[in-house]
Amino acid sequence: MIEVKDVHKSFNDNEVIKGVSLSLNEGEVVTILGPSGSGKTTFLRCLNFLETADSGSITVNDEQVTFGQANANDILQLRRQMGMVFQNYALFLNKTAKQNIMEPMVIVHGFSVKEAEARAAELLEAVGLPDHGDYYPAQLSGGQKQRIGIARALAVHPAVLLFDEPTAALDPELVGEVLKVMKGVKDAGVAMIVVTHEMQFAYEVSDRVIFMADGVIVEEGTPQQIFEAPKEERTKAFLNRFT
Ligand code: ATP
Repeated sequence: MIEVKDVHKSFNDNEVIKGVSLSLNEGEVVTILGPSGSGKTTFLRCLNFLETADSGSITVNDEQVTFGQANANDILQLRRQMGMVFQNYALFLNKTAKQNIMEPMVIVHGFSVKEAEARAAELLEAVGLPDHGDYYPAQLSGGQKQRIGIARALAVHPAVLLFDEPTAALDPELVGEVLKVMKGVKDAGVAMIVVTHEMQFAYEVSDRVIFMADGVIVEEGTPQQIFEAPKEERTKAFLNRFT
């Protein structure tokens, strides 16, 4: 369903993504682990054109876009298939939770206000915040803000959600509520690519775990293979830090 081929990305002459490929089936959850600076966030941002990759391609549901050659319409079509959830939530602070969910639907994707309102109500319910639609971000906890971020990313029924360290900015006691909503997203059949340091989540929820270091995929496998029997020294050294 999603096929990413041979992505390269440099910042000036520093190549930070060195030929990364990845494929993802419908409803599949892939977690990307790796040390700081290994390129995880950059890779994720390239998929959604928040960074411009130098080369490579992405195919989502048979629509192929080549990095470096995409036009604005290609990017819009692709973004409709991919919701993104950010570490710092990236909510509009001067808009309510409901408006944050509705805004991209109406402004970017051409839904009517009525359709967007109905979808926002459905999503607020799904993330456990049915009564918080009129709250502004400043009136919400970090966990609640992130749940609104997830609702917004799901608004246009994307095929895949990209998560960039979605719980990294949260107080530990708020992490669980966000992970629970993410499990719900998986149960609803939406594919996910999740950059995270939440090992328990990676172990329990992923279908596949990718270990990335220095701009390449070092090793990938089922959570059992990666956590219980990693083959590569770099994977072992990384995981040892968490035990
Ligand atoms: P972390 O776990 O700390 O978030 P990461 O694995 O997500 O790290 P990236 O944030 O993708 O790593 O960074 C990969 C490399 O690219 C780093 O060396 C970083 O300094 C560099 N980099 C990222 N963004 C930029 C930028 N806008 N300009 C220049 N260099 C950048």
